[in-house]
Amino acid sequence: MQLVHTITEDRGNYTFIVYNYYSGDVKEVRVDADKTALFEDRSSLERLPEACPFLRFDTETGKAWCTVHQTRPDICRDYCCWRLLICDAQGRRAGRVLYQRTFLTDNAALGELWEQMKPKLFGLDDREWDDAVISILTKAGYRVRE
Ligand code: SF4
Repeated sequence: MQLVHTITEDRGNYTFIVYNYYSGDVKEVRVDADKTALFEDRSSLERLPEACPFLRFDTETGKAWCTVHQTRPDICRDYCCWRLLICDAQGRRAGRVLYQRTFLTDNAALGELWEQMKPKLFGLDDREWDDAVISILTKAGYRVRE
């Protein structure tokens, strides 16, 4: 995730500005008060140079920790909460499909396109539905990640 999350500014007092390579989001995060010692110890990441800069492992249990869990970026909060991720041509998140066929977007143009395409999706089985959604959105200039 270091390839996704880049620290662009250290504001001190365990506060950082993080840039999301995919979404373009810029977010201030802060190391959780109870995880500063864990954050300071980078030894568990020596063999993971591309790991998120806020990931750490407990050296005794091997358990992974997000050291900025309370202020983590939106993409982390949403992780595993979408089946299809829809990004615009610039790679910014435009919408999501959750669960089986629940569609969410804050993007007016994508919302309008979704209303137009809904009738074409009736009666399709799950695989056909996914294929149709991906095909229509891709033709409209969006990128869809499964
Ligand atoms: S959940 Fe935390 S450790 Fe994982 S990628 Fe996000 S910020 Fe990094």
